[in-house]
Amino acid sequence: MKFTAELAKTQGSIFNIQRFSIHDGPGARTAVFFKGCNLRCRWCHNPESIDFAPSLEFYPDKCIGCGACFAVCPVSAHIIRATGADEQAIHTIDRSKCTRCLKCVETCYAGALAGVGQTVTADYIVDNVKSEMPYYQHSGGGVTFSGGECMAQPDFLYAVLVGCKEAGIHTAVDTAGNLPWSHFERILDLCDMVLYDMKAASPKVHRAMTGVDNKLIIENLRKLCKLGKRIWIRIPYIPDFNDGEIPGIADILCEIEAEAREAGRKNAFERVELIPFHKLGASKYEALGIGDPTDGIKPPSDAEVARVVEYLRERGLDAYKS
Ligand code: SF4
Ligand code: SF4
Repeated sequence: MKFTAELAKTQGSIFNIQRFSIHDGPGARTAVFFKGCNLRCRWCHNPESIDFAPSLEFYPDKCIGCGACFAVCPVSAHIIRATGADEQAIHTIDRSKCTRCLKCVETCYAGALAGVGQTVTADYIVDNVKSEMPYYQHSGGGVTFSGGECMAQPDFLYAVLVGCKEAGIHTAVDTAGNLPWSHFERILDLCDMVLYDMKAASPKVHRAMTGVDNKLIIENLRKLCKLGKRIWIRIPYIPDFNDGEIPGIADILCEIEAEAREAGRKNAFERVELIPFHKLGASKYEALGIGDPTDGIKPPSDAEVARVVEYLRERGLDAYKS
């Protein structure tokens, strides 16, 4: 497949390009984070990735009260509200009015407002990724398309994969797997490996934690394994949310491993990574004006994480802490 001028013009929405990532597949990689997700994981540490539309972040401690955003907002979403016993005036945003036009962001020189998400073309991404080529060659790295859910923008993902493959770059797709199989079929030949999330074993718990059950996710994982795709499994480890699901996840993975061995393959999963919950997303929830659903949840201790990794290894999985 050629990276035609038409494919190069394909547009998509991203919210970050991270260089020299060592947490998104083998070697040093460029991670491209697509905006928008079709799951609603209650522990999401990238809440700015969830909406497909641009997001507005507000950091009141940086606001110098210049009033520029009030003047430019077409829907008067910036408001002054009296609060507390002393009726102190504070600057807030009426999110129900905000259309996310991001006009106010352009006027705020104090950096109190930030827009998240930009529409870019496939050739913009491919040129960006290509610029780090020496690092990929030296480290065995490449590009990882992540999110959000990168597979929820199938035309854009296809276009950037064609461009990166044509440039000889190792490609990985990081997905939660909740998409029609046809989405996978379209990109499989362009994708050297898949990073695949397993969030819960029980369909009921999965639905309660993410908004959807895991039937399609497990079906797709089995199909990928049958095709012998190179796969790294990623398990988010969230105390009080999915910690009770680890044995069930191990059961599913071991069953698929056994099927792969029966079919004469060395393994189904090259690696299983445990991703411990952290609190880095808390300030983002506040900046986006949404309540933090993980408020009160503590990150697991190193000892707890080590215990779970050890448990997965005892089950015969090649497990590591991410
Ligand atoms: S433009 Fe920025 S600094 Fe000025 S009032 Fe608005 S948020 Fe505050
Ligand atoms: S993003 Fe647009 S609508 Fe929303 S507060 Fe800023 S100027 Fe107003």
